[in-house]
Amino acid sequence: MKHERVTRGQSADTKRRGKRPRIGFHAPISGGLHNALLRSNELDCQAVQIFSRNPRGWKAKPLSDEEVELFKRVRRKTGISPVAIHANYLINLAAADEGMLQKSRASFREELERGILLRADYLVVHPGSARGACEADGIDACAESLKRAADGLDLGSIRILLENTAGQGECIGHRFEHLREIMKACPGLPLGVCFDTAHAFTAGYDIRTAEGLEATIQALDREVGTKKVRAIHFNDSRAEYHSRVDRHWHIGQGHIGRDGLRRVARHPKLSHSAFILETPYDKPEDNKPNIEALRSFISGSP
Ligand SMILES: [Zn+2]
Ligand SMILES: [Zn+2]
Repeated sequence: MKHERVTRGQSADTKRRGKRPRIGFHAPISGGLHNALLRSNELDCQAVQIFSRNPRGWKAKPLSDEEVELFKRVRRKTGISPVAIHANYLINLAAADEGMLQKSRASFREELERGILLRADYLVVHPGSARGACEADGIDACAESLKRAADGLDLGSIRILLENTAGQGECIGHRFEHLREIMKACPGLPLGVCFDTAHAFTAGYDIRTAEGLEATIQALDREVGTKKVRAIHFNDSRAEYHSRVDRHWHIGQGHIGRDGLRRVARHPKLSHSAFILETPYDKPEDNKPNIEALRSFISGSP
C-alpha cells in the first residue's frame, strides 16, 4: 500500500514528517459507496471507514461491476487510504445458537468477499456475544467462525481487524486477552486489531490519565502487540468509566475528555494506525469540530 501520495489536506510538512497518523471518519454511503470517499475528501480526511451495505439487515444487494469500478476510480483520484469496512451489526461470530452462528458465518464471508472486491484494506468486526455460554466457548466459536468464513477465499491484501468491545451484555472482546486468544487460534489468517477508545474506557481501561493510558498501551502491547493495531476508533464516551455501556460521544465532551484523547492521538506506539472518528452526526459536515480536534492533537497545536 503506497501512502506517499500527497492528497488534499496533507501538507508538505506532513509529507516530510511522514509519520503522522492518517485520519478519517465513518462516512455515509447514501447515493453510492464512492460518495463516502468524496465526503471524506471534502473534509480533508485521508482515511475512511464505511459499511459496504445496510448494517442492520441480513440481505445485501450484490455489488455490481459498475459500483466496484466507480469506487476504485474515485479512490485513485482522492488517494483515500486506508479504506476500512465495518461489518454489519447482525453478525455474531461467537453465537451459542447454531442457527445464528451459521447465518453469521455466511454473512461475514459475504462481507469479506465484498471487501476483497472493493480492495478494502481492513474489515473490522466485533468478536461477538457468547450469550448462554462461557467466555472461553465464545472465543473458540469466534476463532472457528473466522476460519470457516475465510476458508478457500483469496484474501488478497485485506486484513480482518478484531475490535475491542465495551463488554455490554455478554460480549467478548472487552479484554485484550480475548483478542489475543482469538488471534492465537487463527495463525493462518491476516488478523489485526482495531482499538476503540470509548469501548476500552467503559470496559475498564482508564485512559483518562497519563498513567492509565500507559498501562493500557502496555497491556495492548503485551497481549496483541501494538504493531497489530491498524486502526483506532477515536471516540469520546458518553457512558462512564467501567460502565460497560457503549455510547460514543464528541471529542472532548465526554468522560474521557480532551487531555486524555490528545495523549492517545499523540502516542508514539499508535502513530502507524489510522485514526477513525465514530462520533454521532446528522450531516457529514457536523463532523468538522471532531475532525479539527483530532487534527490539532496530531499536529501538536494546543
Ligand atoms: Zn465497531
Ligand atoms: Zn468502534
